[in-house]
Amino acid sequence: MNHFDLRDGRLFCEGVALETIAEEVGTPAYVYSAATLRRHYAVFRDALAAEPALAGAFIAFAVKANSNQAVLAILARLGAGADTVSEGEIRRALAAGIPAERIVFSGVGKSQAELAFALGVGVREINVESEPELLTLSRLAAARGARPDLAIRVNPDIGAGGHAKITTGAGESKFGVSLREAARLYALASADPHLNVRGLACHIGSQITDLSPLAAAYGRLADLTRELRASGYRVDRLDLGGGLGAPYFNSPDPPGPDAFARVAAAAVKGLDVEATFEPGRVIAANAGVLLARVEHIHARPDGRRFLVLDAGMNDLMRPALYESFHDIRPLAPRPGPALAYDVVGPVCETTDTFAKSRLLAPLEAGDLVAFMTAGAYGAVMANEYNSRRLAPEVLVDGARWAVVRPRPTYDDLIARDRLPPWLGA
Ligand SMILES: *Cc1c(COP(=O)(O)O)cnc(C)c1O
Repeated sequence: MNHFDLRDGRLFCEGVALETIAEEVGTPAYVYSAATLRRHYAVFRDALAAEPALAGAFIAFAVKANSNQAVLAILARLGAGADTVSEGEIRRALAAGIPAERIVFSGVGKSQAELAFALGVGVREINVESEPELLTLSRLAAARGARPDLAIRVNPDIGAGGHAKITTGAGESKFGVSLREAARLYALASADPHLNVRGLACHIGSQITDLSPLAAAYGRLADLTRELRASGYRVDRLDLGGGLGAPYFNSPDPPGPDAFARVAAAAVKGLDVEATFEPGRVIAANAGVLLARVEHIHARPDGRRFLVLDAGMNDLMRPALYESFHDIRPLAPRPGPALAYDVVGPVCETTDTFAKSRLLAPLEAGDLVAFMTAGAYGAVMANEYNSRRLAPEVLVDGARWAVVRPRPTYDDLIARDRLPPWLGA
């Protein structure tokens, strides 16, 4: 459930008409609903809490889904931890009030500088994805006299997710190590006085709408846990990753957090481990929209009707990157039969196409639309291609709203470059 609703023919976010924000801030602009973020977090937390096998489960919001300070601060106040994949994300989580003890550091290519930084701030856990990373971590920990908690990220050879490009658990993907390799690294880490290996981790993909691959992956993690324990190793944490799909409203709704929690609980039942979850999309996706304005409608003699928006693939990359579907809703739908539009942006690339032959209520130049379900992997992926300024971000909380990242000025954009001295004036 989210807090974007039509009221008297106008689309609202909580108590604020989205038109008001579009007029004051301009478009394109991201808008987030604080109530939706809080609600999604609570539903997820309560679903886990209802399963005795998941007692004490730790929730680390995947910062890469939405790293705005305001979003992180809302989740921090609810007690969320953070799953991070770079020093920048660790710094963002810390700055938003998530303590280091609640930050997990994941990622396939952590640099030495990043690992040293994570050791320095004392993150909760480092999820190690390869032998070279394990050896580097050991060396850095020895040099600092630290003994970091870590987990070994397993690639269970079970891919899942809404698109091949967001599948991470297939054997061929770059993430994690095989079950056999994980057992070997576990032994290596356990024998290392500078490392405190706590358990195993996995994350098999994103926008997962079928729980069976998750059940299978968790089963493999549980089997490996039993095997490691039989060999005398301590395994007291299992990080089950993220990946639960969010409804994008073009297909049946994905299973909810309750069903997901039952699957996770069944896998860890009897193991007496502390489970970690790293939800990103399911918390943030439906808590955000991207507002855009219709520049013009370009009707072709062949009957094609291009709806040219002021938002482009640089603002919302998902359709260009993953062929993703986003529901598109007019802020003030006009009466009349729906028409088929090819919805495109202004960027000079053919992939700057959000939808083809999409049936929408009739639109005119100047009308406002919202890309729904844009709160995750939206603003975080935005870029300035075509020298377009990053879209601002706005947070709505009840009847209040605030710009939580302003749109840069053109001077900001240009002033980041430098002329070399020999070309200077
Ligand atoms: C991206 C990612 C997540 C979050 O995935 P969602 O599909 O957004 O829930 C969790 N853990 C890791 C390691 C990730 O890379």
